[in-house]
Amino acid sequence: MNKQDILQYFDKHYSDRYKVYSSSIKSEKDNYFFMAKGDKEKNLIILAPLNLANKFEGVNLEEKIVDENKLIIKKCYLNHLNISLLREIFPHLNPSFCGLRPSFGTGDRLGIATPAHLQAFQGKVIFPILAQQSVREMARTERNWQKVLDDAIWGCFEAGYEGPFGADADHVKEIKDLKDAVDCGYTMFTLDPSNFIRNDIEKLGKQELDQLYNQIPDSKKIEGLYLSKSYKIKGQELIFNEKSLKEIILTYSEAINHVVKCYEFLKDYKKCNFDLEISVDETPTVTSPLAHLFVVSEFKRREVNFQNLALHFLGDWQKGIEYKGDVKQFAREFSLHAALSKSIGGYKLSLHTGSDKFSVYPIFARETGGLCHIKTAGTSWLEEAKVVAMKDPALYREIHRFALENFKKDRASYNLTTDLSRIPDLDKISDGELASLFKQNDSRQLIHITYGSILMAKDNVGKYIFKDRIYKILFDYEEDHYRELSNHIRRHLELLSN
Ligand SMILES: [Zn+2]
Repeated sequence: MNKQDILQYFDKHYSDRYKVYSSSIKSEKDNYFFMAKGDKEKNLIILAPLNLANKFEGVNLEEKIVDENKLIIKKCYLNHLNISLLREIFPHLNPSFCGLRPSFGTGDRLGIATPAHLQAFQGKVIFPILAQQSVREMARTERNWQKVLDDAIWGCFEAGYEGPFGADADHVKEIKDLKDAVDCGYTMFTLDPSNFIRNDIEKLGKQELDQLYNQIPDSKKIEGLYLSKSYKIKGQELIFNEKSLKEIILTYSEAINHVVKCYEFLKDYKKCNFDLEISVDETPTVTSPLAHLFVVSEFKRREVNFQNLALHFLGDWQKGIEYKGDVKQFAREFSLHAALSKSIGGYKLSLHTGSDKFSVYPIFARETGGLCHIKTAGTSWLEEAKVVAMKDPALYREIHRFALENFKKDRASYNLTTDLSRIPDLDKISDGELASLFKQNDSRQLIHITYGSILMAKDNVGKYIFKDRIYKILFDYEEDHYRELSNHIRRHLELLSN
């Protein structure tokens, strides 16, 4: 039997119950594996001898004699055990090291977006980081490292994808979370040392500063390495004078120590190559070129092998909407950071909150010469909510009203200028116009930041109010879901690859 025979056979006997994802069919020896979609769920279907079939969890559909061998056709669940077995059989389903290739992260809060993301990557020379979730997002979606990674790999399997991809444990602050992510098989780790970055330096008087400074064990030694040293970058001279150096050391030294500690742990615990990103983007102030130069020099001096660095770049980086600020000024400042990173060499610059920052992408890609990584997440959720608005207007209206009620509480952890009064009155727009709400910044942010509340909301008997219905709509209208989402992500990727 070959792939075609399998398809024909399955279609003939099971097409009333299942639709096969034909690109998912894979064979190993004489065994076949593919994804099929039923009324309510997707399943892995395997055609294999009894001893192999028995390893997978599921239900036997039939026994079949092929070339005198007895094969079992089994319908298996999309669970952790089954995907682990598939990963052993098909090594391309394991995430891998990205290194300095240009890369793009597609966070997927619902865990069903990977096939659409992969469509968008088709034909692009950009390394996909398909599993990417932060500790914060995990809490808000009631998911965990393993589930996020498993979902992305099931998506790869469904799409028949055999190329490389990465898995990013994003914004990790503690070693215990790093350990869990390593145990689950993540290949990329984004360290967030923001708890160790001092943000009160400007408020302190000279005496206090001196006192703090003298408490840093290596401050004199570090001072000797940088003081009065000057660096010529793009015709501009960067020089550490006593004041600026002191401030930078005070601001970052604890954070650098924390990163070194995390890196040592990873090097020891993760037995193979991994991507390391260091992110100082969630700081109150913009990262100066001098601070950039200092932290990178210190990481190099202390032998931290990292691939990506996320800085707090100039401008207003709000969730799910275009860059706010002067793009030309951003371009000028960013070109200095890019030149700096190229002259030091060996790492990429990473852009967080990259969703929908279309005006910035060409600058980012050009100035870094492709040594760049971008993270998006919320924008995929917004496309999914848009599809709900298109296909089940009544459900969307409920979600929208609920979001309005929860916005005040949920906005606390975000930097936003959202003005709810600018959102059109839901009672005054027709069903057909609901999707156009997703073109308006305020309503985008309304749905963007309330995702956790929307997904977790339960009624008084403990049943999800929206979550299951959202999944069902996207399941029933999968083609629309994949089309809208892949078109949207493709717009991002095209700006990077031109
Ligand atoms: Zn970030």
